[in-house]
Amino acid sequence: MSVLEVKDLQAQVETPEGSKPILKGVNLKIESGEIHAIMGPNGSGKSTLSYVLAGHPKYEVTGGEALLDGKNILEMTVDERARLGLFLAMQYPVEVPGVSVSNFLRTAKTAVAGEAPALRQWLKVVDGAFDDFKMEKEFASRDLNAGFSGGEKKRLEILQMQLLAPSFAILDETDSGLDIDALKIVSEGINRVHEANNTGIMLITHYSRILRYVHPDFVHVFADGHIVKEGGPELADELEENGYDKYLAA
Ligand code: ADP
Ligand code: MG
Ligand code: MG
Repeated sequence: MSVLEVKDLQAQVETPEGSKPILKGVNLKIESGEIHAIMGPNGSGKSTLSYVLAGHPKYEVTGGEALLDGKNILEMTVDERARLGLFLAMQYPVEVPGVSVSNFLRTAKTAVAGEAPALRQWLKVVDGAFDDFKMEKEFASRDLNAGFSGGEKKRLEILQMQLLAPSFAILDETDSGLDIDALKIVSEGINRVHEANNTGIMLITHYSRILRYVHPDFVHVFADGHIVKEGGPELADELEENGYDKYLAA
C-alpha cells in the first residue's frame, strides 16, 4: 500500500505586483485505492495544487511538504516523481509539433519504467488502449495534440494514464469540455485504471457531473487556497444543490 500525504502545503507565484500567495496550508492524505474529489470555485487554487505537485517551476513552495511513502516529492525532478508512480497529466505540453502520439506514449512509458518496452508487445497494448477509448488507430501517427479537440486531449490523457499504470494520479478538470459520450469513455477509463492498479486518485473538478461516473470515497471542498470541509460522496450532492457560497463566506 502507498500513501500520498500533503502537509500544510503553501505556495506562491510571482506577479508584476509582487508575490501572490495561492496555497495557504493544504492538508490531504490519499491511500492506494482511494478516490478523492477536490471541488471548489474558480480561482480557489485547485490547479495550483496540481501544478505544485507536478513540479511546475512557476510556483514557489513556501512551506509544508508533499510525501509519497514518506519521501518528499517536492525536492524531486518531474521525472523522478513519475518514476515513483505519480501521474500528473498536465506536466505535458499542450502541443508538441514533430512528436507523434505513438512516440510520445513510448517515450513516457520508457521514462517511467526505466527501459523501453518490447516493441511488438507494446504496439498491441497501445492498439488495445485506442480501442478502449474509442479512438481511431491513425490518431497514433498524428502530432501530439496539434489540432486535437478538447475531448481528444482528455481521452489521450487518460489513455496515457492507462499505459503508465500509476500508483497515484492527479487529474485536473478531466471532465471539462466533454460531451456526455466522451465523459463516459473517459470516466470508464479512470475507473479501469483505478481498479487494475489500485491507483489512488485525486480528481479535481468544478462540477459534480463526473462524480456520477467516478465515485469518490471522499470529497473535499477547496476554497481560498486550502481545504475548508471534508466529507463523503454526499458532500458532492450538497454542493450541487447549494453551491460554494457558504464556504466562501466562512
Ligand atoms: P482554480 O484551478 O481553482 O480555478 P488556480 O489555481 O488556477 O485556481 O488559480 C488560483 C489563483 O491564483 C487565481 O486567482 C489565479 O488567477 C492565480 N494564479 C494562478 N497562477 C497564476 C500565475 N501564474 N500568475 C498570477 N496569478 C496566478
Ligand atoms: Mg475504489
Ligand atoms: Mg483550475
